[in-house]
Amino acid sequence: MRLLLVEDDDHVAAALAAVLAKHGLSVVHARSGEEALKALLPDAAEPFAVVLLDLGLPDQDGFEVCGRIRKISATPVIMVTARSDVRSRIHGLNLGADDYVVKPYDTGELLARIHAVSRRNAVPPAGGTEQPAEEGVPEAPLRLGAVTVELPTRQVSVDGTAVPLTRKEFDLLALLAQRPGVVFRREQIISEVWRTSWEGTGRTLEVHIASLRAKLRMPALIETVRGVGYRLVVPASPASQAP
Ligand code: CA
Repeated sequence: MRLLLVEDDDHVAAALAAVLAKHGLSVVHARSGEEALKALLPDAAEPFAVVLLDLGLPDQDGFEVCGRIRKISATPVIMVTARSDVRSRIHGLNLGADDYVVKPYDTGELLARIHAVSRRNAVPPAGGTEQPAEEGVPEAPLRLGAVTVELPTRQVSVDGTAVPLTRKEFDLLALLAQRPGVVFRREQIISEVWRTSWEGTGRTLEVHIASLRAKLRMPALIETVRGVGYRLVVPASPASQAP
């Protein structure tokens, strides 16, 4: 199994590579974000099972590197950082990181996480269909309590009744629905759904959130995370629903 280690500190990298090698992992070392991106280009020699990404890099912010990796490669990314705050973690996961390890970490824990993300990535989707999926979009309908979202046909239903949505409303719901419980930053939603930068689109996002809540008749389905963004909350069984 090949692993790409992105770490600017040669001592840290050498020590870690030695430990990982003992556990059968062959490590390729990149010292900067640019080196990492180069190693991950589709025409690069052999694919990596996992990218271990240090967030404190000299040339660019590790979060930015993670976002750029996601644009060119589906290789699982584990972020390694001294920042343990929840916001950083959410930010990393929203950028497409698969996992997050906080320094100082236990080697056993790191190995377990490496194996877990590489296993997840290796499992092919069950019952593959003929239709080519859009990049990164699963084919099976997403079921969120009473709400069903079918990505290939772009249909949404609540308790079996179809709910007509506009294109952007659907894109917005589909984005949130693919990772229930995960907080999506407003900037990220705007960039993914509207393909534009943040300026001036905030109000549009709010309007779409409001209309989704109304059309689905489930105001609690999309939760506002104040100062951050939104997340989709899958309703629990009625008995255990919080007031
Ligand atoms: Ca570093």
